[in-house]
Amino acid sequence: VASRELKPDPTQIQVGQFKAGAGVVGVMAGPCSVESEEQIVSSAHAVKKAGATALRGGAFKPRTSPYSFQGMKEEGLKLLALAREETGLAIVTEVMSTEEVDLVAKYSDVLQIGARNMQNYRLLEAVGNSDRAVLLKRGASATIEEFLLAAEYILNEGNPNVMLCERGIRTFETHTRFTLPLATVPYLHRKTHLPVIIDPSHGTGHAYLVPDMSVAAVAAGADGLIIEVHPTPETAASDGYQSLTFPQFDETMARCARVAVAV
Ligand code: PEP
Ligand code: MN
Repeated sequence: VASRELKPDPTQIQVGQFKAGAGVVGVMAGPCSVESEEQIVSSAHAVKKAGATALRGGAFKPRTSPYSFQGMKEEGLKLLALAREETGLAIVTEVMSTEEVDLVAKYSDVLQIGARNMQNYRLLEAVGNSDRAVLLKRGASATIEEFLLAAEYILNEGNPNVMLCERGIRTFETHTRFTLPLATVPYLHRKTHLPVIIDPSHGTGHAYLVPDMSVAAVAAGADGLIIEVHPTPETAASDGYQSLTFPQFDETMARCARVAVAV
């Protein structure tokens, strides 16, 4: 169903003021985790002002260690909904289990399937039965074929609003957190009509690499970006080392806009 042979024209996903695909680059930005009302609402205003049309923020966090901050759960979802009320931004947030799909869908616009759950087939089917758009992240060790077949699980349940997100893969390289293959963008554009989103934050793991890789992703034809932005990255509960400050995000958006016009 995702194949470009079956549907040659690119799919555009529109959720409220967020749009991605078919020539439109949609930007989702915000903190890795929702931490407080002040943190998420100030982030929402800042990323909107810079040009983002969706707010990201995790309430259910898939942390590598069980001793790390696990997210604010439903309280975090309520804060995201509040930020949406104040700014009109579409809300993107992760859902980690089938039992929580209805709860997360109640407060959000785009359900994020994290890299660790890309092959959680029951979860893919559950979001396939939801009326919310889905941001499917590539598993860190998944091939593109496996990634596309995971998307089919969602599409096959009747949900056509799927975005594919390259967030970096695991290689022998250690200078970046993951290795971010930007060739995924033109490759997926040949294979599928679905929008392709790049996550330069998890893809590199270093804030200083995020601006250049965002610009490069847009130059490669990405239909969207998902970028971690935090009011004070040094105090973030998760992923602060790869989060941009508000001014850094502003500058990155301005650079991306110039490239989008040029290519
Ligand atoms: C995230 O977006 O904060 C996240 C946990 O992403 P990934 O699933 O790509 O690791
Ligand atoms: Mn993160």
